[in-house]
Amino acid sequence: MILSGIFCALVLLSSQIFTVSSEENLDAHRDVTLRTKAETYLQIRKGSSFKIAIFADLHFGEAASTLWGPQQDLKSAKVMSTILDNEHPDFVVYLGDVITANNIPIENASLYWNQALSPTRSRNTPWASVFGNHDDASFEWPLEWFSASGIPPVDCPSKISGEACSFKGTSRLELMKNEIEQNTFSYSRSGPKNLWPSISNYVLQVSSSNDSQVPVAFMYFFDSGGGSYPEILSTAQAEWFRVKSQQLNPDARLPEIIFWHIPSKAYKKVAPKFKFHNHCVGSMFGETVTPQEAEMGIMKILRKRSSVKAVFVGHNHGLDWCCPDKKLWLCFARHTGYGGYGNWPRGSRILELTQDPFSIKSWIRMEDGHKHSDVLLSS
Ligand SMILES: [Zn+2]
Repeated sequence: MILSGIFCALVLLSSQIFTVSSEENLDAHRDVTLRTKAETYLQIRKGSSFKIAIFADLHFGEAASTLWGPQQDLKSAKVMSTILDNEHPDFVVYLGDVITANNIPIENASLYWNQALSPTRSRNTPWASVFGNHDDASFEWPLEWFSASGIPPVDCPSKISGEACSFKGTSRLELMKNEIEQNTFSYSRSGPKNLWPSISNYVLQVSSSNDSQVPVAFMYFFDSGGGSYPEILSTAQAEWFRVKSQQLNPDARLPEIIFWHIPSKAYKKVAPKFKFHNHCVGSMFGETVTPQEAEMGIMKILRKRSSVKAVFVGHNHGLDWCCPDKKLWLCFARHTGYGGYGNWPRGSRILELTQDPFSIKSWIRMEDGHKHSDVLLSS
């Protein structure tokens, strides 16, 4: 108990030290309780690669008011545990649609969010999360809860009563605040305030195993909207990336990888029209890409920047490919959760960064242990 207390204190302390101080002047309206500072680093272990597991579209809380729903959450937790024990990643990315907020009939959806983090947290593995279109969607009253005439009063289930029945949803900001405040291993951030209500916009540095101050790569996280507001990456987000990447990596010498939830329209263009497209690597090509509502310039900036190696998205549960878009790779994750539409077997896209020589490899690890779709994204 004492030891774990000391360990927690040390982690807390080190997370303070890890923060890059040059950021302090940039986010003028910083909130003390919300870590809007953008940078933190993750150091590659000596003699090791840096491995990331992407958990996409977990949809915890799907059909939460039924018996079936919670069973799916248990199965999703098992998928994550299996992947974590099989791959032993250094870091996990929760790539949005962590919960199905529109099915969650309680005021604090963070309880479900927290369940989704649990397998990673219990293994002391650090993680970061971004928002998808379901995470702060408004609760949709099940029709069977209404009176026979179809008009309220609502027939709230007996365990949910009083004020909970007027529940409106848990905001992105609240979800992020709870994640950060309650989890030492969370590297998530609530992003610069000038981008709100788009919240999960931040950058993390991957540091050299020799020197924690020496970056070897940068990971950018974006909130691609959906739920409480449109499914877009805004001009302001594109500009934030342009300024931030120029500041942190001015000569574009170090590789950058990008994570967000909803595919951009560019994914539709590179998507193979026929199965087994020559240049793409993956096992699922059958579904139509459902892209963001509008393209506000981010892809143009990413394509122009030679250091950007790959973009990773979720959202389409039936797609798991990586396709080249000129020098950039556009990749889907792999549907990890038992919540959400589709019955494709569950798994996780894994990324592996090596330092010397630099490379980014990726593959998909399935729940049953099977590994496939190996691809070299950068070397
Ligand atoms: Zn989803």
